Amino acid sequence: MSVTIIQKQDFPDFVNRLLSQFRVSGPVEEDGGYAFRVIENSDDLRLDYPTTILPPKKFLLPTKETLFEFDKSGNGTVQAPVVEPRTVVLGVHTCDLHAIKLLDRVFSTGHIDPNYTLRRKQTLIVSIECLTPCDENSFCKSMGTLSADDGYDLHMTDVGNFYTIDIGTEVGEELLQYAKTAPATEENMKKLNAVISEKWPRFPYRLDFDISDLPSLLNMSMKSPLWEELGERCLACAACTNVCPTCFCFDVRDEIDLDLQHGQRIRKWDSCQLDEFATIADGHNFRQSRALRQRHRFMRKGKYILEAHDYLGCVGCGRCARACLVDITPVGVFNELYRQKEVGGQS
Ligand code: SF4
Ligand code: SF4
Repeated sequence: MSVTIIQKQDFPDFVNRLLSQFRVSGPVEEDGGYAFRVIENSDDLRLDYPTTILPPKKFLLPTKETLFEFDKSGNGTVQAPVVEPRTVVLGVHTCDLHAIKLLDRVFSTGHIDPNYTLRRKQTLIVSIECLTPCDENSFCKSMGTLSADDGYDLHMTDVGNFYTIDIGTEVGEELLQYAKTAPATEENMKKLNAVISEKWPRFPYRLDFDISDLPSLLNMSMKSPLWEELGERCLACAACTNVCPTCFCFDVRDEIDLDLQHGQRIRKWDSCQLDEFATIADGHNFRQSRALRQRHRFMRKGKYILEAHDYLGCVGCGRCARACLVDITPVGVFNELYRQKEVGGQS
């Protein structure tokens, strides 16, 4: 591991120099919370943010994008999407980093998604070590996402009056040409190790069982009465999936202009929690009840995605728990399934 340091007083200059070369985004304070935004000045950045409503996924998979535009007038043309500028995303937490690793796998295996992979190639990730839990909803320690060994170009840790920077890729190393850095000394490394060992006890385990048992727990819980209970409570509002860094379902539609000559094929985020998500030909809906859709959601998070892509579909960020108006949370659901299993309550 190659570690270098940057003094905090030199960090704004680094960001401002990045701004002259790249589109730069990161967490900013907004409406009493925090959001990832494209920034114009280093002063906008809030690297000590707890969490954001939407994850940085939106830079790789926008909420709505045009796949191509078509024009029936004349000979008819189809235009590919505009290539976006190289973007540095600063301040990505490790849970979101794990989510991006999953998205990379999903969109670059089997049918390779050209839009995602192009954007991903254009995106450099500078992550930051979390030193305190975002709030009582995060359960990253239980999910194994409280740290990361890869997936970033640079990884920063706040060590008081300086940041240590772990170089993850050659492109990341090239970014450092814009920063005033120095190799980490023995003293710097001692401070870094102290910061890291002090952070772990601050994060509680929130699941009552080991995460490696989650897929088999879900497997045993297909007929749990809990799904009906959740179905009764759920509002089918899709807030949980909309804020999730690992949800990647989308819908594709053609939008035709009024002249019937021009139009766009667009894709938009979709949600398995919406009534119409599983509606197919003839109006048949193969997951009509909210109970079935809740079961599907949690099966995806802890079992199906793991089976398909070798990564869990939940990184423990807690965003869905914060967003849900009726208090349906992964920790609550997984722990309740575990409790039912322990008392032999599931059928
Ligand atoms: S399911 Fe909830 S806690 Fe898990 S990654 Fe998605 S938003 Fe975060
Ligand atoms: S946020 Fe809550 S109420 Fe809305 S769809 Fe998700 S689980 Fe249901």
